[in-house]
Amino acid sequence: MRIVLTGGAGFIGSNMCRTLLSRGHEVIVFDNLLTGSRRNIGNLLTEGGFTFVEHDVAEPFDVDGPVDRVMHLASPASPADFGRLSLEIMAVGSNGTRNGLELARAKGARFFLASTSEVYGDPALHPQPESYFGNVNPVGPRGVYDESKRFAEALTFAYHRRYGVDIRVARIFNCYGPQMRVDDGRAITNFLWQALSGKPLTIYGTGMQTRSFCFVDDEVEGLLALMECDHTGPMNIGSTFEHTLNDLAEIVLNVTGSDSPIEFMPLPQDDPAQRCPDLTLARSVLGWEPTVLLEEGVARTAAYFETLLDSQ
Ligand code: UDP
Repeated sequence: MRIVLTGGAGFIGSNMCRTLLSRGHEVIVFDNLLTGSRRNIGNLLTEGGFTFVEHDVAEPFDVDGPVDRVMHLASPASPADFGRLSLEIMAVGSNGTRNGLELARAKGARFFLASTSEVYGDPALHPQPESYFGNVNPVGPRGVYDESKRFAEALTFAYHRRYGVDIRVARIFNCYGPQMRVDDGRAITNFLWQALSGKPLTIYGTGMQTRSFCFVDDEVEGLLALMECDHTGPMNIGSTFEHTLNDLAEIVLNVTGSDSPIEFMPLPQDDPAQRCPDLTLARSVLGWEPTVLLEEGVARTAAYFETLLDSQ
């Protein structure tokens, strides 16, 4: 297939590109490198079937010739960026989604939206099924991301109902792995970088809040299974291996052999207390479920970070 991928130089996007190319697809990436990087796609640039266009998809974009799939993965995704990149996040979630949908509509292509567990906000229901409408503070610091993804979902379904665009919507839960930015500000990247450089691990709040971390190889498999199945979604694509942040810090210390101390810091506003997908739908429709345990995924991510430290 000929696949247009927004955000292909980002963390999940670049892992997705590698898998799509290995399966024989042609991939055309649009990315403005705001949080993505050329390093993530450096070794793909010389491969046949891969095209990179530096472009902000919040501005209209087009490609010559037929397109089979438009995958919209572009967006900053770390809470640490929600202040610094607030308006960029809202632009890529609104105009970027619309531009991707227009391309899909013009080409008769299937449109795939990478949405997020953040649509559930600080969930009152646990674990979260797709039918849960969420608990989001629209005017809080996370609102820029949560609401832009909620808007993107609404817009995607509006194009489906109004124009008959074929759509798939995935909700991603705390994905991690190689090709994350070391300074991206999320828990896994902060803890790993801190452990590897002998600095204190910064736990926000009590560390009793939970997340369900999904290794990127599992995530990409799940997203592609959804893209090629007959269900529009929204569908949770994440891991049910739920851990407290205290657990995560301990796993990072064990895996890296670091003796960094723990430093407790204030909990950011609206930080969700718990998060875990109800995977019933993904299991029954896709027969998919993640297999990489947190210890193994953290070890593989640590190995990637070590190569970055070595090259500095
Ligand atoms: N967190 C932490 N220390 C850090 C970064 C994050 O304790 O250095 C906490 C954060 O407050 C949240 C959890 O880890 O409760 C996951 O945060 P992350 O930014 O990775 O993703 P989120 O699930 O909040 O989008």
